[in-house]
Amino acid sequence: MSADLPDSFDPWRTANSGLGFSGTLALRQLPRLAAVVIACDDPPGVSYRLSFGRDETGRAMVTGQVNACLRLRCQRCLEPVEIAVDASLQWGLVRTEQDAAQLPDELDPIVVTDDRIDPIALIEDELLLVLPVVPRHDEGCCRPPGLEAPSLLLGKDSAGSNTAVGSDTPHPFAILSGLKRHSD
Ligand SMILES: [Zn+2]
Repeated sequence: MSADLPDSFDPWRTANSGLGFSGTLALRQLPRLAAVVIACDDPPGVSYRLSFGRDETGRAMVTGQVNACLRLRCQRCLEPVEIAVDASLQWGLVRTEQDAAQLPDELDPIVVTDDRIDPIALIEDELLLVLPVVPRHDEGCCRPPGLEAPSLLLGKDSAGSNTAVGSDTPHPFAILSGLKRHSD
């Protein structure tokens, strides 16, 4: 079963009830994500699916999926690049940072304060986490702008050098004159 995602709700009760949510968020609901995405006339939505429940040990958790196709700025050619996000999430709900440290590795801790969570902000966090830090087209598919401009000729010394090289070699006649003196 699924319902529209409220702005904020009690995740413990939701986990007890085993509720699920699915739908699509508009980019304008995700301002931090919108700030890194290239604006366009028809911005893509972010689809999500969240299932609240408890595992066999009674631990409250959320499993789900977020999907989006987002336009970011390629950091190589500076043109738009479409990044498909298809992330599965597994959250462990905890009350304190100490409890978070006790969670198994496969669960990402969500520290719940005041018995409320803001699920849209959590989905946004998840997307920001999985987006590449340096978005780029595939290797070989693009090149930096202006790469072909000649720029490696700077600093070349075009004037020929005619500096005379001095010699420290002793004059051969000086040696001869020394020998001559000995033979006297
Ligand atoms: Zn590129």
